[in-house]
Amino acid sequence: MRIRTQIVMVMNLDKCLGCHTCSITCKNVWASRPGAEYMWFNNVETRPGPGYPKRWEDQEKYKGGWVLKNGKLVLRSGGAISRLLNIFHNPHLPIIDDYYEPWSYNYEELANSEEKEHQPVARPYSLLDGKYIDAPKWGPNWNDDLAGGTFTASMDPNIEKLQKQIALEYEKTFMMYLPRLCNHCLNPACVAACPAGAIYKRHEDGIVLVDQESCRGWRFCITACPYKKVYFNWETKKSEKCTFCYPRIEAGLPTVCSETCVGRIRYLGPILYDADRILEVASTKDEKDLYEAQLSLFLNPFDPDVIAEARRQGISDAWINGAQRSPAYKMVVQWRIAFPLHPEYRTLPMIFYIPPLSPILDVNGKDLSPEEYIPFVDNMRIPLEYLASLFTAGDTKPIRMALLRLIAMRIHMRKITVGDVNENAYNKLMNEAGLEPSQLEEMHRLLSIAKYNERFVIPTANRNPEKHLDIHKGACGFEEIGEYNYKVAPKDLRIRNIR
Ligand code: SF4
Ligand code: SF4
Repeated sequence: MRIRTQIVMVMNLDKCLGCHTCSITCKNVWASRPGAEYMWFNNVETRPGPGYPKRWEDQEKYKGGWVLKNGKLVLRSGGAISRLLNIFHNPHLPIIDDYYEPWSYNYEELANSEEKEHQPVARPYSLLDGKYIDAPKWGPNWNDDLAGGTFTASMDPNIEKLQKQIALEYEKTFMMYLPRLCNHCLNPACVAACPAGAIYKRHEDGIVLVDQESCRGWRFCITACPYKKVYFNWETKKSEKCTFCYPRIEAGLPTVCSETCVGRIRYLGPILYDADRILEVASTKDEKDLYEAQLSLFLNPFDPDVIAEARRQGISDAWINGAQRSPAYKMVVQWRIAFPLHPEYRTLPMIFYIPPLSPILDVNGKDLSPEEYIPFVDNMRIPLEYLASLFTAGDTKPIRMALLRLIAMRIHMRKITVGDVNENAYNKLMNEAGLEPSQLEEMHRLLSIAKYNERFVIPTANRNPEKHLDIHKGACGFEEIGEYNYKVAPKDLRIRNIR
């Protein structure tokens, strides 16, 4: 058993407002430079919809992630030779139209215009070539709040898969927000696809970074990432991606998107896992079993044997203690209410999502008794099948259980604070949800009123400047080798403790 540490993010989608503050603050800090105009390391998608870049989940088109071939895990984009054959023309890369043509407005015209009969207009112009454009036709969140209705909703690959179960008629339609960033995967396809070895996963916290000096701009990482979270900077001719705000994490501070999140939906905490089992878990045969298999990688930080072994392998007590206090461990492993995005891509993503509750869909005037809580979960406006398509490779059972637990938490707290709860229905719900009242109370505290240091548990004392994790190129699993050597941002960009 090789015990390793990873900082994990959990997002509670029940609380996301779709305000995009996370995207804007991230962009201001990291991607507000020439060549990066179209990049959104963090973006918030309205679902159902095509996302950013358009239809990124369509792996037939983009060839991202891993697949099992004769029981062996291989990159969907092919082996080294077939990828090298695409070096001058890669048909699987998203083009600028799949993202959007970044634009701004000629605001100077408003201030400097000569006196005219009509009011001056700030015309839109392209940030790529500086020429005026008639009107922007697409953007990173063009279908915000379902603008575009059934047209953009039906461009969602998950909807396509589920066409039989999901109707997009006006009275039955639904929406939710899906904030996305690099998943800092345990089995990152981007790292495995890079022939130059320019992308690497850090030893101490699992952050995946691009070494700007080693990157040759071949863009195999962009094809290989199934989440399309590596971008090509057309000015520097290098790949770039979310850095998980590593200078802040090193200082024990949350990422900028987490710090500024208006809905306080984001949580950060360490998890201990067994690195020896990555290949076995990512090679799980049935994709519907991948979610469970991924959970089995995580180690119990309260287990005395795990603690002893972690210490023996050089993991500091600060990290062991952090793993015990980790909000991510509670939500992902203990309560099982948070899920990885598209586990079927087999990259073992380390960003987890609590699925959103939604209003009851009152189809055909069918009345649900307010005293029966369980039927609510099967009659929600966002279909279970849709959430399962996003988070559990189509298995609805774990999603249903997570939603039941979220309802149980609410009813239990209502019983404590208001008291008007039907005892029989309450007991039935508690039985099915399978969590103790004390666990529901802890869950309520964490999900609703938790303080800053409960939401963000970020130990800083696990630095090992001699090592980083090196994934074998074209393969799965990793070794610790090499010099600790990141160059994604100059040192003066490091952020000091601002709290
Ligand atoms: S999401 Fe995973 S595969 Fe994609 S860039 Fe991030 S670490 Fe790499
Ligand atoms: S800042 Fe928070 S609430 Fe607002 S869109 Fe981003 S994740 Fe959602």
